[in-house]
Amino acid sequence: MSYLTELQCAKCGKIYSADLPINLCECGGPLLARYDLKTIRKKINKQTFKSRKKGLWRFKELLPISEESNIVTLGEGDTPILKANKIGKKLGIENLYIKDEGLNPTGTFKARGASVGVSKAKELAIKTIAMPTAGNAGGAWSAYCAKAGIELVVAMPKDAPELAEKESFIYGSKTYLVDGLISDAGKIIANGVKKYNWFDAATLKEPYRIEGKKTMGIEIAEYFNWEIPDAILYPTGGGVGIIGIFKALKELRKLGWIGEKLPKLISVQSEGCNPIVEAFENGTEYSKFYKNASTIAGGIRVPKALGDFLVLRAIRETNGTAIQVKDSEILESLDLIAKTEGLFICPEGATLVAALSKLIDNGFIKQNEKVVLLNTGTGIKYPSLIDFDLPILKINESI
Ligand SMILES: *Cc1c(COP(=O)(O)O)cnc(C)c1O
Ligand SMILES: [Zn+2]
Repeated sequence: MSYLTELQCAKCGKIYSADLPINLCECGGPLLARYDLKTIRKKINKQTFKSRKKGLWRFKELLPISEESNIVTLGEGDTPILKANKIGKKLGIENLYIKDEGLNPTGTFKARGASVGVSKAKELAIKTIAMPTAGNAGGAWSAYCAKAGIELVVAMPKDAPELAEKESFIYGSKTYLVDGLISDAGKIIANGVKKYNWFDAATLKEPYRIEGKKTMGIEIAEYFNWEIPDAILYPTGGGVGIIGIFKALKELRKLGWIGEKLPKLISVQSEGCNPIVEAFENGTEYSKFYKNASTIAGGIRVPKALGDFLVLRAIRETNGTAIQVKDSEILESLDLIAKTEGLFICPEGATLVAALSKLIDNGFIKQNEKVVLLNTGTGIKYPSLIDFDLPILKINESI
């Protein structure tokens, strides 16, 4: 039983029925799922989730599926939140935590969006889904579509991590490698969608991926006993994760399960692709298309996000910020986290440690603040990044 009531355009506010497959509002804005929070508040309380089986479907009242038989799960969600004492100490803060999404099926938090998005597609009897991907969404949606028996067509940049390509193939998706960026892959998919009537599941072009990703926000709130931490740092590409966490926290606030305070939401990007940072600094509502985007953190190599205005809104409404780091700093951080915390994280996640160091230096984050770094995936998916030519890998020449 779902408390999903309708979909609402994030741009113009227009309401749509949630009973049929749908992409964007007629104004081009993304649609967000709305729930009957009043009834949810009467039926359950925040302790209800605790006693349930682990995984993001514990939060089913706040998810959009009506029939439990439509749920497509591979065991996603409820990832650990680890106290990172050594890095915290090195950077000079006492309460530093890393939420490690690398433990999800297919190795990234994309599994959350895929589980909920594919479940809803199954409920809506969609036969073929198509999407552009930087790599990790393709792997995740391929796995969940295989389980659901839904056909998937993906297009990804041909320089996406080799493993992501292989992942899509092994799960049986039709996989196209594109000479270009995720934005070029998006155009190719959009053509196919028109021609073959596939369902377009590109980031924010379908309303339910974000619902899966918002569960990260619920898990963080629950972990800290519904006392919200002071800051959450998030490596931002399409921005679904940060928009999702913001949406979750606002829903929890309306339910009366958390107080007024929200964490400072902080968007981290790479210098080689920083449209959100630029827009934040320039005070604009939307970002500009970032030309010649290039960074080793492929998951955040998104030159223009459909939900850019929602990311900027989330940052501004929570008194957060947006900050960029260099690729060399990403590699140094990746190395540091592995050697101090025993976590081999993805380059996207590694941006956060470099960013945090800058934010502590410039006083934006204070010594006593409670900070969560949202590591979006495992480093094991990026074998080609760990290149023996890198300065971080010093091979001993003799014993
Ligand atoms: C997709 C991806 C991101 C960016 O996620 P958004 O929510 O779209 O901003 C970050 N890290 C990894 C590993 C990813 O795969
Ligand atoms: Zn609209």
